[in-house]
Amino acid sequence: MSRFMSPRFAGLEAYTPGEQPRDQQYVKLNTNESPYPPSTEVLERVSKAEVELLNLYPDPTGKVLKEKLAALYGVEAKNVFLSNGSDDILNFAFMAFCDAERGAAFPEISYGFYPVYGDLYHVDCKKIPLKEDFGVDYLDYCGIGRMVVIANPNAPTGMEISLAEIEEILKTNPDNIVVIDEAYVDFGGTSCVDFIKKYDNLLVVQTFSKSRSMAGARLGFAIANEAIIEDLEKIKYSTNPYNINRLTLAAGEAAVDSNAYYVETAKKIAQTREMTTSKLREMGFTVLDSVANFIFAKSNALSGKVIYEELKKKGVLVRYFGKAKIEDFVRITIGTPEQMNVLFEKLAEILQEQKGA
Ligand SMILES: *Cc1c(COP(=O)(O)O)cnc(C)c1O
Repeated sequence: MSRFMSPRFAGLEAYTPGEQPRDQQYVKLNTNESPYPPSTEVLERVSKAEVELLNLYPDPTGKVLKEKLAALYGVEAKNVFLSNGSDDILNFAFMAFCDAERGAAFPEISYGFYPVYGDLYHVDCKKIPLKEDFGVDYLDYCGIGRMVVIANPNAPTGMEISLAEIEEILKTNPDNIVVIDEAYVDFGGTSCVDFIKKYDNLLVVQTFSKSRSMAGARLGFAIANEAIIEDLEKIKYSTNPYNINRLTLAAGEAAVDSNAYYVETAKKIAQTREMTTSKLREMGFTVLDSVANFIFAKSNALSGKVIYEELKKKGVLVRYFGKAKIEDFVRITIGTPEQMNVLFEKLAEILQEQKGA
């Protein structure tokens, strides 16, 4: 920290993204990206003609993309907010809806960015332990009187809570925002978007990074009651009105136009997940039941750290958190069936080598 930085950031611990090494080609199963490319519509739309327009600012309202998303989700354009990745929306939510008096609550084991935003804005955050089976206990959040943030399905477990449970959380927190982060919902989860018509305290967050194969484009969106969207717009227009670049907007429009392609790839990924889960269980792993594009797995023979390190040596990257309660686990992103076969092969080698060691 330089001597110029405000002391209010002295204790801030920034988020650590999953590694993106460039030293060699890895089978990359560590940051929950899609193994499939964007649709051909996206490839065609981000054209030379679009690049030639980069001298002009993009549409700060994102009108066309909002209308397309609204049609897809059965809401109105005024219920849609667009952002530079969904991380931006989470940032705005903590900035807009929390302060010294207004705290937040989220699962102790969840997306690692929530506590960072909490610290950034000096918000009192209640980190609620998961149940024995790694599920979120919705009762912990009923009437909690703070902003609730739940990833559903949760990361890194891949497990979800039901719509009925979300509804209870919404009903019992009428004076607090309930943020449901649906980054992984398209791989087999159930979206609560329809509840925005009934509950004015619901903020649903989604992203183009996972199921829409656009992590590199940085595009997220939120769906909520009009008043919440207006709050988020106020923050956006007070920080960076052009937060989504022209190429990303174009890519996003084309991606929504080709939604069927993404439904298809999400289905393929879900099938590969089921295959991977069975295979790893046969190999002696405990694997949580996931509805996301990753699985959370623990070997009955080796520590999570050894699995992570040995796989990396063999050119396969997975995510290891090394955190209390989950130190035996690794999170494995679901890739193509071919990539998963490489994973099985390397894991079998590692189990063999370590047995001999
Ligand atoms: C990946 C992820 C996000 C953020 O993704 P963006 O790339 O910023 O859209 C948000 N929440 C969860 C739980 C995630 O895993």
